[in-house]
Amino acid sequence: MTKQFTANVLICGAGAAGLTLAIDLARRGVSFRLIDKMDGPFRGSRGKGIQPRTQEIFEDLGIIDRVVAAGGLYPPQREYREDGSFTVSEVMEHVDPSPAEPYHIALMVPQFLTEGVMRERLLELGRRVEFGCELVGLEQDQDGVTARLAGPDGEEIVRVRYLVGADGGRSFVRHALDIDFPGKTLGVRAVVADVVLTGLERTAWHRFHEGAMDRQMSLCPLAGTELFQLQAPVPLEGDVDLSAEGLSAMVAERTRRDNIHIVSVLWASAYNMNARLADRYRVGRVFLIGDAAHIHPPTGGQGLNTSVQDAYNLGWKLAAVVSGASETLLNSYEEERRPIATAMLGLATKLLDAAKRGAMRRGREVQQLDLGYPESALALEKPVRSGGLLAGDRAPDAPLRGAAGQATRLFELFKGPHWTLVGYQVEREAVPPRAALRTHAIGPRGNLIDENGHFLEAYAVAPGDWVLVRPDGYIGAIVGSQHIDALTHFLGEHGLI
Ligand SMILES: Cc1cc2nc3c(=O)[nH]c(=O)nc-3n(C[C@H](O)[C@H](O)[C@H](O)COP(=O)(O)OP(=O)(O)OC[C@H]3O[C@@H](n4cnc5c(N)ncnc54)[C@H](O)[C@@H]3O)c2cc1C
Repeated sequence: MTKQFTANVLICGAGAAGLTLAIDLARRGVSFRLIDKMDGPFRGSRGKGIQPRTQEIFEDLGIIDRVVAAGGLYPPQREYREDGSFTVSEVMEHVDPSPAEPYHIALMVPQFLTEGVMRERLLELGRRVEFGCELVGLEQDQDGVTARLAGPDGEEIVRVRYLVGADGGRSFVRHALDIDFPGKTLGVRAVVADVVLTGLERTAWHRFHEGAMDRQMSLCPLAGTELFQLQAPVPLEGDVDLSAEGLSAMVAERTRRDNIHIVSVLWASAYNMNARLADRYRVGRVFLIGDAAHIHPPTGGQGLNTSVQDAYNLGWKLAAVVSGASETLLNSYEEERRPIATAMLGLATKLLDAAKRGAMRRGREVQQLDLGYPESALALEKPVRSGGLLAGDRAPDAPLRGAAGQATRLFELFKGPHWTLVGYQVEREAVPPRAALRTHAIGPRGNLIDENGHFLEAYAVAPGDWVLVRPDGYIGAIVGSQHIDALTHFLGEHGLI
């Protein structure tokens, strides 16, 4: 057995979850290997909806503008009636951005484009995916994990401190850990395919026979490409012809139009919808993130987003523990993320039931801006607050002005791997500087000015309050000046010495 550590972390799977974790660890200087058993990048559009909360994370990771440029917005949807006429509506409720929530509209970016941007970012940080490298065995002991990898040059044994299974719904890691994956098969099978077609305008998402599971057909122009994403429920049993001819015939039969022609099929899959959640997200030094931990129907566009956010929650904790913070910090990963997946499974299943009835409009619940960890052991409030923003909530954005006069935003100040401490009308010196902590003060003699009151409105703090924001943009603590000792203890406990 190899005793020396090859890297701190082995990430198994380079989908959206594995790539997010890799970018986060790379920018924190944590050594890792990122492997994927496929010979090259996955080509399918799959998870195409990027929700506002994920956009905030992409801003922090330095890829938001590139992701927006790669894709676009959802077009209006056209729901066709039997006679060929149609109604037009927006896919999402339209709400303008606000100072606290700068991203408000779901983006449409085919998953292969999002992942392409992520790989580019990873390369900028000097790292890349090792394709053609499969995890085929793992064992763990008190100090680390020994993994067996099969690559083009044969087998290799690597020794790492932690292993993260980001290896999708059929997760090898989950099976190797013998973690149960209870839930249900939802009795819906669907085709999803990326196709080049003629006969439809690209200015609308075309929907035929919504609510009729035997005839439903959705053809959505994929932003940033010349493709359409075809989606259609199909019978639970039997072969489905996924060739251009086969799909053209299905389109003709379901739309009753003979002028839509599928020219080519770039990727296609017929899959059964499931809603399943892993019993555990961690066994010792091995973790599950993304689809390896939860799978659900695509309704509501939650899968990729939840996977990215799992990785974002785990990344800073792994980095802190590798640098000496207490191992107990890692317990909070499952504690925080598993309840989110439980709720998301319920939401996606509810939206699937609504879709079966033909109701497709999506509201705020899919945006993931209201998710938080108020029950977490990492949430400190002193004194306990009765309303407004609570410890564990998502930290809102707020436009501010620096004392030197330049405009800035809280999200600009959060950006990067550090914690952020913001004091409102405080004695700044009350909290001495520490590594990995950026301290700001708003108020007289502070380095920031809350010119238009947006900070006060969003955070509802009183003079003397301190707000500690975690590296992943959630509120770790809100304490009054009289409880500064509790804040200092909290910082120390989480490796901020
Ligand atoms: C047909 C379909 C349609 C979907 N539509 C939507 C949608 O509309 N909206 C949405 O949000 N989500 C959608 N999803 C879900 C979304 O694609 C997933 O939630 C997302 O891909 C999860 O990312 P992940 O990184 O966890 O897993 P994956 O993207 O599955 O990546 C896992 C990676 O692990 C690799 N791997 C597996 N085993 C090993 C091993 N032993 N060794 C090395 N590598 C390994 C695989 O090759 C793969 O690249 C859809 C999924 C499917 C299948």
